[in-house]
Amino acid sequence: MKLPRLVLFYTFAVFALTVLVPNCEGQPDFKIDAGAVNPGSPDPAIARALQTIEPQRIQQTIDTLVKFGTRSTLSSMETGLPKGEGIGAAADWIAGQFEQISRECGGCLEVHRDTFTEPVGDRIPQPTTITNLYAVLRGSDPVQAKRMVLVTGHYDSRISNVLDARNPAPGANDDASGVAVSLECARALSKLHLGATVVFVAVAGEEQGLNGSAHLAKLAKSEGWQLEAVLNNDIVGGNTTPGDTLQLKDRVRVFSEGVPAAATPDQAHRIRALGKENDSPSRELARAVADTARTYFWSPNVQPFSAFLVFRPDRYLRGGDHTSFNREGFAAVRFTEWREDYNHQHQDIVLPPAGSSDPILGDLIQFVDFNYVASVARLNAAALATLASSPGEPGNVAIVTTKLENGTTLHWDAPAGGQGNIHYEVVWRETTAPDWQFAKTVAQQAAGEPVTITLPVSKDNVIFGVRAVDAQGHRGLVVAP
Ligand SMILES: [Zn+2]
Repeated sequence: MKLPRLVLFYTFAVFALTVLVPNCEGQPDFKIDAGAVNPGSPDPAIARALQTIEPQRIQQTIDTLVKFGTRSTLSSMETGLPKGEGIGAAADWIAGQFEQISRECGGCLEVHRDTFTEPVGDRIPQPTTITNLYAVLRGSDPVQAKRMVLVTGHYDSRISNVLDARNPAPGANDDASGVAVSLECARALSKLHLGATVVFVAVAGEEQGLNGSAHLAKLAKSEGWQLEAVLNNDIVGGNTTPGDTLQLKDRVRVFSEGVPAAATPDQAHRIRALGKENDSPSRELARAVADTARTYFWSPNVQPFSAFLVFRPDRYLRGGDHTSFNREGFAAVRFTEWREDYNHQHQDIVLPPAGSSDPILGDLIQFVDFNYVASVARLNAAALATLASSPGEPGNVAIVTTKLENGTTLHWDAPAGGQGNIHYEVVWRETTAPDWQFAKTVAQQAAGEPVTITLPVSKDNVIFGVRAVDAQGHRGLVVAP
């Protein structure tokens, strides 16, 4: 008689623990009181602007850039080039494009030339004139306009000998494709009224040693640009070599640094101590790009496109202009096509005789997929517009660690200029997860006031972050405490 009663009690106890008190048993604390991280809701005005990005115009841009013969940075010092060839002619044309886009939006862009002389170096045999071009779309909100986001590509090109300043260097994929992204973003976003400022850039000197971007990043730092995000597009042509079955056209790789290049020894020590190697501002930017792709490129009537995050600064043996911005302490990521074909980069043009099985060499326009470049441009434009419409980053995000406890108390300040109708999302993930898994919405306690919140989730087991979101759902960058 005693046994069944014991069984009954045991059954009830298990039922009580697993069903009536679900948070106590069988479920980690980090799932308590949390929702999943859902895709954002697309802004119809941004979605309409993305539709104006056309593959045909991208084709015209790349075709025009290729026809400058060589865009070797060193060609700026060549005197014997035919008229209309060389990097100087390309710079004038790009500046003209920015000016034309500006005329079409009532003078909304400030077009600048950042010209300087690079001294002799490894790949610079004589003092060389380098010109970066950039166009500034000032934010419409006086406070938010101080915040800036930037998109860049490099318009210089090279062939096998990086010192060759005369022979044809078409650079169709590397990196006329990235310049086309900058120009298309300028065209599409100049039609919107964004709160924060957007900068559209084409730099030179990339192939000689990131000279142009290094100069511009230093200029940005010295002038106090509040750059929240730098998107570098380099080799985004979706290389299409006949017979290559491994290229993927539904995604673009996004590379981001882990421990910031600009971290001081003290900062690097803290990053190691707290296990924050995957939460640099650049990596939060990469996650924001992936989030934008999930927001805008998922529905049945939109071509699916995603950001494939790679948690390393760049590919093996290669570098890019985002690194110049990382070195100055800015969040910067690199976009590159899924699978590169090294026969079509940095090569002298070689057309094998008919019937030969040898590959065609050279960065020729025939291997560029303009539809693919358009997808990359739309993702860039969506990310820039979302960030420029968002309230910005919460300040001084911190975990309160005055005593040992299993819960977590987070504290942060409202973003500068974020006094309007905004709210916050506390997001978190397991330490082994690549992207945010759980979210909790937190209302403003009072407009512009600091926020303190305690969650029953152990800070020892997850990584936390906080982002600010406006009333229309534009998400700002996540800041990890
Ligand atoms: Zn490149």
